[in-house]
Amino acid sequence: MNEKPEKLIDKKGLRLDGRKADELRPVKLEVGILPNADGSAYIEHGKNKILVGVFGPREMHPKHLSLSDRMVLRCRYHMAPFSVQERKSPAPSRREVELSKVIRESLEPSVFVDLYPRTGIDVFIEVLQADGGTRCAAITAASLAIADAGIPMRDLVVACAAGKIDDTVVLDLMDTEDKVGVADVPVAFMPNLNAITLLQMDGVLVPEEFEDAFNMAVEGCKKIYAMQKDALRNKYMVAKEQEVEE
Ligand code: ADP
Repeated sequence: MNEKPEKLIDKKGLRLDGRKADELRPVKLEVGILPNADGSAYIEHGKNKILVGVFGPREMHPKHLSLSDRMVLRCRYHMAPFSVQERKSPAPSRREVELSKVIRESLEPSVFVDLYPRTGIDVFIEVLQADGGTRCAAITAASLAIADAGIPMRDLVVACAAGKIDDTVVLDLMDTEDKVGVADVPVAFMPNLNAITLLQMDGVLVPEEFEDAFNMAVEGCKKIYAMQKDALRNKYMVAKEQEVEE
C-alpha cells in the first residue's frame, strides 16, 4: 500500500501528479464499442477506466416493476474485483448500491422518460480500474451510452468533482487526494439547461470554499462536455463517411 503523503501540494503549487489546482486529469471518451448493447461508452479519466452498456427501451422484467405513464431507468454501478489494489469482492457492496442510486438520479432528469411508458432501460456500469472520482466518470460515460442508444434526451449529463486538499481548493481529485484530502464535492451538470443533477459533499468546507469548489467543478464539467460532444460526433461522422464510401 502507498504511504500517506505529508503534503498533497508542493511549494510550487503542484499536486502529487504534477497538476495545477484547477487542472483536470486527461480524459478520453469513446462511444459505441459494445456491438451487443443498444448503446455503450468507455471513459478513461486519469487512471479510472470505466465501461458502460445500455439496453432498451425494452419490456421490463419483472413486469410488475413497469410504470403505466413512464419508462423506468435502472442503473447498476459495479467495481470489478481487479479494479482496486486489493481484490474487491464481486458481490455488490453498500457503496455500490448507493452509487447506483445516486448515478440513476443524476441521469434521470436528462431522459424523456414519459415518451416510453411501460418500458425500461438498463444502464450497466463496470469500473475496470478505480482512482478516485469514479461516480463522476461513470455519469459522464453513462450519459454518452444513453445517447448512443438513441434514447431522446434533454441534454447530456456531465460530471466532475472539486474539493480541498491541504488548504487549497482543487479540481478533479484522484484517489490519494480523495482519501487524504479535506473535502470532495462531486457535481453533475446539464450544460445546455444550466441544471445541476447531482451535488454531494464529503468532508467539511466553509461557505466560500464550497462556492469555489462548486464553481471549479462546473468549469471542469464544461470542458468534459465538449469532449463528450466530440466523442459522439466522431462515431457518427465516421459512420457517415463509411456509408458514403460504400
Ligand atoms: P468516487 O470513486 O466517486 O470518488 P468514493 O469517494 O466512495 O467514490 O471512492 C473513492 C475511491 O476510493 C474510488 O474511486 C476508488 O479508487 C477507491 N475505492 C473505492 N472502493 C474501494 C475498495 N473496495 N477498495 C479499495 N479502494 C476503493
